[in-house]
Amino acid sequence: MIVMKFGGTSVMDCAAIQRACSIVRERIDRKPLVVVSAMAKVTDQLLATAKAAGSGDRGKALELSRALRERHHETSRQLLGAVEYERFHSVLEQEFDTLDELLRGIAAVGELTPRTSDYVVSYGERLSSKICTAAFAVMGLNSALVDAREVMITDGQHGKAVPLVDEIDCRAQKIIAPLLAEGRVPVTGGFIGATKDGVQTTIGRGGSDYSAALFGAALNAEVIEIWTDVDGMLTTDPKICPEAHRIKVIGFEEAAELAYFGAKVLHPATVLPAVRKNIPVRVLNSRNPSNEGTLIVARAPHSKSLFKAIAAKKGITIIDVCATRMLMTHGFLRQLFEVFDRHRCSVDVVATSEVSVSVTVESSQSTPQIVADLEQIADVHYKERNAIVCLVGESIRETAGIAAQIFTALGNINVRMISQGASEINITFVIDEEQVPEAIRRLHKHFFSAPDANIFD
Ligand code: ASP
Ligand code: MG
Repeated sequence: MIVMKFGGTSVMDCAAIQRACSIVRERIDRKPLVVVSAMAKVTDQLLATAKAAGSGDRGKALELSRALRERHHETSRQLLGAVEYERFHSVLEQEFDTLDELLRGIAAVGELTPRTSDYVVSYGERLSSKICTAAFAVMGLNSALVDAREVMITDGQHGKAVPLVDEIDCRAQKIIAPLLAEGRVPVTGGFIGATKDGVQTTIGRGGSDYSAALFGAALNAEVIEIWTDVDGMLTTDPKICPEAHRIKVIGFEEAAELAYFGAKVLHPATVLPAVRKNIPVRVLNSRNPSNEGTLIVARAPHSKSLFKAIAAKKGITIIDVCATRMLMTHGFLRQLFEVFDRHRCSVDVVATSEVSVSVTVESSQSTPQIVADLEQIADVHYKERNAIVCLVGESIRETAGIAAQIFTALGNINVRMISQGASEINITFVIDEEQVPEAIRRLHKHFFSAPDANIFD
């Protein structure tokens, strides 16, 4: 079997759901389980609705709910045709009547608990999975709705509930596997679940990828396909460097390194359950389904090019701590990091010399306060508007002279800090924020434009 997860933009309207359906139909022989997100923006809108109700603004909550009701009706009407829509109409009405009743209750009390918030927000996936199931049936697939709350069993931490893997494995075998065996196409919502007692939960924003990975792991899927609206992951930001191209295969660790730089495609941590079981995850574009996308595998195969990707993050502050007074006495680093700990500030790159330590942090309003605290133990200077640039690739492990190549490629761009991470698959350095585009273009030209580098795997 395979898992096919369609994100919000891939089920955002009638045309998108029809596209999704034909993509599923093409893979029907592989026994797909379909996992869907809420239609694009619906989760955000439901959260806004819940918030309005929680603040006692009943009118606004019901107005937002009405807009959602209309959008779901309109999409269903376009998808289902007169006869089927007639039947489905009352299904939607019932869902939204219950939602409105709930909103009135929340508004009356004027309090939104995490538990009720989960309840409201769950409507996104509950509705999208019902609509897709009905639409797939109209388009000739033998679809079957699976209520995610019967399979995705979690603990009770509302908003970010932790899935109970053994329970999910067991339920997936009991509920989903028989449907697949009968040749049906099970359709379920991502992101939502329930406790063993049946209390509605959600597993964190963007959680549908996580649902897909957990279901795939439970059912020993051959592959998990994450259908989105871009052609997979790219070697770098195409807005900075138009020569950026698709990464064909990337290792899980490589993808995880890039996640810090805000990989918008998917957060690799969410597909860990699949990767652990050696199930490949493929990121694909539902608007361009013939493109092969990016394959994420547990361990990246040998690549011809040294690096898989270059990423940068701006808004970085370098803090230089000069320990002349302490001359690096023992316990100094502990004192130093305790300051960051107190401010709940995470440190990204660290470089030390005999008498000084430089660290980078994401710039924030608390920087001056952190600096003031550090001044109690050392001399401190800080520079804002820096950027972390990171080159990621498995092959770094066994290649010598990479730093030299990087410095050569960068030419006159001044590197303020450099670190080769313990994971051995990334080289990170810090430069002036303004030089990021030029640095990326130079590095991309040097490391990715050799003829060999175009053979991505
Ligand atoms: N609909 C949820 C969200 O927007 C989950 C998802 O799409 O992955 O966060
Ligand atoms: Mg997503």
